[in-house]
Amino acid sequence: MRKPLIAGNWKMNGSKASVTTLLEGVVGGMQDLSNVDVAVCVPFPYLEQSERMLKGSAVALGAQNLCTESGGAFTGEVSASMLLDFGCHVVICGHSERREYYGEDDAIVAAKIAQAVSAGLRPIFCVGETLEQRQQGETDAVIAGQVDGVIERIGIEIFRKVEIAYEPVWAIGTGMTATPEQAQDVHAFIRARIAALDPEIAAGIRILYGGSMKPGNASELLAQPDLDGGLIGGASLDATDFLAICRAG
Ligand code: PGA
Repeated sequence: MRKPLIAGNWKMNGSKASVTTLLEGVVGGMQDLSNVDVAVCVPFPYLEQSERMLKGSAVALGAQNLCTESGGAFTGEVSASMLLDFGCHVVICGHSERREYYGEDDAIVAAKIAQAVSAGLRPIFCVGETLEQRQQGETDAVIAGQVDGVIERIGIEIFRKVEIAYEPVWAIGTGMTATPEQAQDVHAFIRARIAALDPEIAAGIRILYGGSMKPGNASELLAQPDLDGGLIGGASLDATDFLAICRAG
């Protein structure tokens, strides 16, 4: 069986003081959470502080982005090996905000996933359709394009070491959550797409849901057979809410 993963995506939020409060709260509430993997993806400047605070806890550290290259003259970029150096285990790749605001296309996302895996990090590969695409009936085509766009470039084998997150763009930060049925449909579609290439990888891969997941809706979403966890934005900034979602997993 797939063990659920609940990963917080703090986005560009936080200060040294708020990171201290938040991580004290999360680490302090982890006692009864052995049936779920928990991670927090923090902004780069707080990696060192977070690594220190999470030491000895069951909470895995993660980042929200990395460079397509392994090192060298790439001003302003952060490499996979640097993330590893700060104790990261996971890294988000291809979040819709990066696709939309920073021009990340399938080729860039594929290169980042490949970098992450070769350094020993587990990428959380994000896919999702916009509201307009859903209304036009294009959801399956968009998701298939994003999944295939990566597999065509780096192969299916690498997916043994990848988590996928389905994040409908219209549900991110909007308070509008996909219904459990809408989410399950897309998760099953993604799994079937992978199963057509490798049934064993499809059966093992975790597919997280992201998009306004909250304590109030997490249980019914996570009860769906193909939902294997959550990528949590807004609600991961509050330790009580984040832990409540972890418990629902
Ligand atoms: P949200 O963000 O939970 O605030 O909707 C999820 C995400 O963007 O990963």
